[in-house]
Amino acid sequence: MPEGPEVRKAADRIGAVLTGQKLADIFFDPEVFPDLARHEKKLTGQHVLRIDTHGKAMLTRLGGGKTIYSHNQLYGRWRVCTRGEFPDTNRSLRLALHTTEHSALLYSASAIELLDADGLRRHRYLSRLGPDILDERLDWKALRERAQSPEFKRRSLAALYVDQHYLAGSGDYLRSEILFAARMHPWARPCELPTTALSQLGRQTLTIARRSYRTDGVTNPPNLAARLRAQVVAAETSGAATSSGRGAPAAPRNKGNEAWRFAVFRREGDPCYACGTPIERVRIGGRALYYCPACQSANR
Ligand SMILES: [Zn+2]
Repeated sequence: MPEGPEVRKAADRIGAVLTGQKLADIFFDPEVFPDLARHEKKLTGQHVLRIDTHGKAMLTRLGGGKTIYSHNQLYGRWRVCTRGEFPDTNRSLRLALHTTEHSALLYSASAIELLDADGLRRHRYLSRLGPDILDERLDWKALRERAQSPEFKRRSLAALYVDQHYLAGSGDYLRSEILFAARMHPWARPCELPTTALSQLGRQTLTIARRSYRTDGVTNPPNLAARLRAQVVAAETSGAATSSGRGAPAAPRNKGNEAWRFAVFRREGDPCYACGTPIERVRIGGRALYYCPACQSANR
């Protein structure tokens, strides 16, 4: 499932063609959203003010005071294209926002609603969300205080970092990457940790999430990602796997940008870039968590 940075990137792409523009046409799939389809005429001609995100939810703000709420969950996909062109896909079109020149098309999503200000405030999902992990106003001290609050301090970091009520926009890969970057044991609980450790966790939470947004999902530090990428290119050029030099990180085994994106996520059995210990994978509530048992042992 896309996490905060991917949802924000999608919002940026949609915002680039819709923000400030008048909706020349709008479509809701009448089979799935018959109530929304009745609003199409009324919404046509309204301006799109901006596209906001809160965690994994997208909020398309319209000039008439309404907001289109959408959540892609597992299957939803946005596509942006020139007006009149549709992508070649078997997916079902659920929402289309057309200007005279462009279209933003949402496929396969099952969570789309039209809300006014009161509806936004009372919304069962939005009203329970914690702060957005990419909110520029969010600072590490606020994150530290949140971790130390009575509501959250006795829960494991592994549980907190996929709980949208704790922190909106964090999911499977951000959880693994943030806890590794902060050198936190996944089962440590905030109430067991010194304030300095929670400060470090707060800083790394923002660093990793913001880096992922800037780099299209690369959470490794830029220098390490560049070295790993160079190894992949060298291996492809020579047609064989390269052996890493002394002090260099082990050659990545994963394909494509997966080979340099992550420190621990989806790297089960591969050596940790920091210490060489094989990365471990555990499943918690059906969701995978990856960690280095050596680097992240300090809090246990
Ligand atoms: Zn390690």
